[in-house]
Amino acid sequence: MGLLTIIRKTRLKEKQIRVLMLGLDNAGKTTIVKRILGEDVNEVSPTLGFNIRTIMHQGYSLNVWDIGGQTSLRPYWRNYFETTDAVIWVVDSSDRERMEDCRRELRELLQEERLAGASLLVFANKQDIAGGMTSEEISEALQLPLLVSHTSHIQACSARSASTTEGDQRIWDGLDWVVKEVARRVYYGTGGGMPMASEVQEKVESSSATA
Ligand code: GDP
Repeated sequence: MGLLTIIRKTRLKEKQIRVLMLGLDNAGKTTIVKRILGEDVNEVSPTLGFNIRTIMHQGYSLNVWDIGGQTSLRPYWRNYFETTDAVIWVVDSSDRERMEDCRRELRELLQEERLAGASLLVFANKQDIAGGMTSEEISEALQLPLLVSHTSHIQACSARSASTTEGDQRIWDGLDWVVKEVARRVYYGTGGGMPMASEVQEKVESSSATA
């Protein structure tokens, strides 16, 4: 078993998942994190370095690294790649002009060796803005159906949705996928079903009992 796998299994046993939240500047990364944490989304200032926030979900603690997406900061993203379990790539669905830039940056990111084992969740954010792209259109634009190197999923959402329940729920649905996918990958390889958190905990306990 490789060292990275051992580190990942140990962290999952401690119910910790390391998540990198990335995307172009202004996509809504910080707003999504604030929305999840129930904080005021009207007070968001650009992320100039990074914020680390912990989100509790399904009994797991997701350590989310929200990293500034300005062009000048992008070369520093790679400093945070080590032992990442999942990447959440946030897209401004209304920003058609920068969709090609977005595709190129995501593609470069996924070529990083240190992210080879990470799952990818794409949030098609800002769905409340009229005339924006649907999640299907964004999936095509980012060429997600062609992606074979990482397991991926796209989730439409709006961090500033007027409907608090729906806005929140779609973001939580995305996090559900992250937890199930990371657990499935680390414990069951790429071909298994998607276990619930409790099943994963049982698996961890039985594997540490036999270790
Ligand atoms: P970041 O640079 O990716 O962290 O983006 P921010 O979270 O700072 O958000 C950039 C701007 O987009 C802010 O003015 C937010 O209020 C706005 N924003 C974020 N999410 C949404 C959304 O879902 N809908 C709309 N209309 N605006 C949003």
